[in-house]
This record gives sequence, C-alpha cells and structure tokens, in this order.
Amino acid sequence: MDLLEYQGKQLFARHGLRVSSGEPVTTVEDAVSAATKIGYPVVVKAQVLIGGRGKAGGVKLAANEDEARLHATNILGLDIHGHIVRTLWIEHASDIASEYYASVLLDRSAKKPLVMFSVEGGVDIEEVAEKTPEKLIRHHVDPLAGLSREEAIKVATDGGADTDVIDGVADALVALYEVWLQEDATLAEINPLIVTPEREVKALDSKVSLDGNALYRHPENQELSDSENEDPIERRAKEEGVQYVKLDGDIGILGNGAGLVMSTLDVVAQAGGKPANFLDAGGGSNAEKIKQAVDLLLANDAVKAVLFNIFGGITRCDEVANGLIAAFGEIKPSVPFVVRLDGTNDVEGRRLLQEAALPNVHAAKTMNEAAEMVVALAAGKSVGETV
Ligand code: GDP
Ligand code: MN
Repeated sequence: MDLLEYQGKQLFARHGLRVSSGEPVTTVEDAVSAATKIGYPVVVKAQVLIGGRGKAGGVKLAANEDEARLHATNILGLDIHGHIVRTLWIEHASDIASEYYASVLLDRSAKKPLVMFSVEGGVDIEEVAEKTPEKLIRHHVDPLAGLSREEAIKVATDGGADTDVIDGVADALVALYEVWLQEDATLAEINPLIVTPEREVKALDSKVSLDGNALYRHPENQELSDSENEDPIERRAKEEGVQYVKLDGDIGILGNGAGLVMSTLDVVAQAGGKPANFLDAGGGSNAEKIKQAVDLLLANDAVKAVLFNIFGGITRCDEVANGLIAAFGEIKPSVPFVVRLDGTNDVEGRRLLQEAALPNVHAAKTMNEAAEMVVALAAGKSVGETV
C-alpha cells in the first residue's frame, strides 16, 4: 500500500523526522489560500503515486499568489505517467544547500533490514547505484538490535555527509528506521534528504509503502488506504473480495487460481499481447460469481478482448460453462471472449458452450491457442470458429 508524499511526511513527523508543514488541497482556490497562509515562497507539489514528478512538471516553486494560482491550475489534472493529479501539497519552500538520499527496506536475500545512504540525492538513485556504487552506502541492520545511533553516525560518515551535519543525518536515519519498523512499512525512502543553509537536515520528499497485511495493527493508518488515488476498479474488487490487480495492457484476464492466472499473463505476453489485469476467480463457478468477475474486467475501458482460462479440478468445467452461459445471458459483453476449458469434464464443458452459441465467445483447447486467439482478437483480427 503506497502512500502519497504528504501522507508519508505525516508519518515521518510522528517519528520526529523534520519535514516542512503544509496543506493538502484539491482546488486552485484552496491552493492559493493555503499558500498565502503558509507564506511565500511555497512549493506546489502533485500528489500521485509515482516518482519523477519534478521532471514531469509536477513540482513548482511559487514566489507569489499569481504564480501559486498558475502552477496549481497547471498541475491539477496533469497526467504524470498515467496518474492524473487530483491532490496538491503546498508547503513552504526550503532553501537547499545539499541533497542527500536515505532509505530503509527489507533485504530478503540477506534476511535483514537494509539502510541506504548517499550524498548524491535528488537524482535517480538507481543511476547512482549503477554508475558510482561506492557512493551508495548499504548497511545491514541486526533486526533484533535495531539501528543504533553509533551505526547511523558511521553510515553518515562513510557516505561522506558534511561533518557538521553528521549528527543531523544520523538522527534522520534512526527516525527513518523507526518509521519503517514501527509502522510496518515495506519501504521508507527520502529523496532528497536536504541540508538547508542553516544546516538543518530535513525530508523534502517521501516514499513510503506500508504492508497492507499489517494494517490491522495500525488503525490510525487505515484511512490512508482509501484515498481517491487508489485505482477505482481495484478498490471495487477489494470491496467485493476479488483478487484483482490492474495492469497497463488491453487484454482482460481471468483464471481460477493465482498460479494459473500468473502463467496466463506470461503466455499472453509471450504471444505478443499486453494483459490489462490479474484476476483470480478462485474456486466456485456460479453465474453470480462469474458475472461479478466479468463486470470487473469490463469496467476497465482499455480492455479490447478477454481470456477466460479455467482449469477444472474440484470445480468442474461443465459447472463453469453453465455459470458462464447464465452470466452471459445477463451481461451481453461488448468485446470478444476466448474461453479455454481444460481439466475435469472439459469436453462436456466445451460442448455446453458450443450448444449455447454465445455471440462473441470463442472456445480454445490449449493455453497457447487461447493466448494467440485473444491477442489476435484484441488487435481487431478475426479468428477461427465461434462457439
Ligand atoms: P520527485 O521529482 O517526484 O522526486 O519530487 P521531489 O519532491 O523530490 O521534488 C523534486 C525536486 O524539486 C527536488 O529534488 C528539489 O530539487 C526540488 N524541490 C522540491 N521542493 C523544493 C523546495 O522546497 N525548495 C527548492 N529549492 N527545491 C525544491
Ligand atoms: Mn523525490
């Protein structure tokens, strides 16, 4: 569960990390009045769940009311790599002497928390890691002992932080570690962690992901998840208890069992297609459940064709076919469907589909065949027999 910058900063502040105070707003008028209240210069920042906002024109300094109005007008509604800006964060602009980088995450291969620090912040940290790895300090923490102040001072020193801010950087690292640990975060990152001309160390940005499975331990963080920035279809799926993840392509995918759905995504990609989602329908086959899944799939306007990949086990293919037929009687889908039924009672299942002669539904026997068919259909080509 990813947090917006300002939500992450609120968590930072709770743990004693220095941040600028500010206000989240959703309209130009509120942006201007927040800016006037905070005092110029301010920085107007797009709140979207994606990095690189600065380069995309989503972070602008405003010296006065006219500039605040101009930037708020331009940034609200801006499309940043597919994320539409609906919320702005207005904070008092900071003067910057240096831009550092700091993060805490779990290093699964080492089975330990990993603290990273660099004085080359403000830029793409992957580039620093690749081109000048010696400038990115990586420090593993004993999970039982936690990050001590002494260790944090060594990390700051090894990383080459200015001597007079070693203490300030160490404090920030210890606080960031505390955020990561106590909030059950999977990632806590600051880029840039700035040093001001007054030699204050401060988080100018935040990137925090919380472990959704640990949310029950943090009732105060619960509300962070239902931001309007969450994908509306994913939110609906969550409410309906369906395992659905939105992807960028145009081929809707549904299967029974997470493993099968993941392989289906791979096979479709291999056939040259782009999956529009992951959807695990789980066990069961009744029409209501299938209808619900199809409704979710088609709620994504990008979907041009759908692949149903069912492997019959305990849930038999003939039951699934009957569920599909009943569901399609109600939905009348607007895009072509490819249905692959394999496993228990597959022959019977395909026969049922054939007899029902559903318009726009194509049967396939194997996964590869199904993938090729759906890719062709999504590209607007016609394919073999319609059942
Ligand atoms: P990102 O592009 O999504 O990572 O957004 P950031 O919050 O990191 O902002 C991008 C860049 O804008 C930073 O690296 C800074 O150089 C600049 N910036 C952001 N806030 C301020 C500010 O308060 N003062 C100044 N001078 N620059 C800022
Ligand atoms: Mn940043």
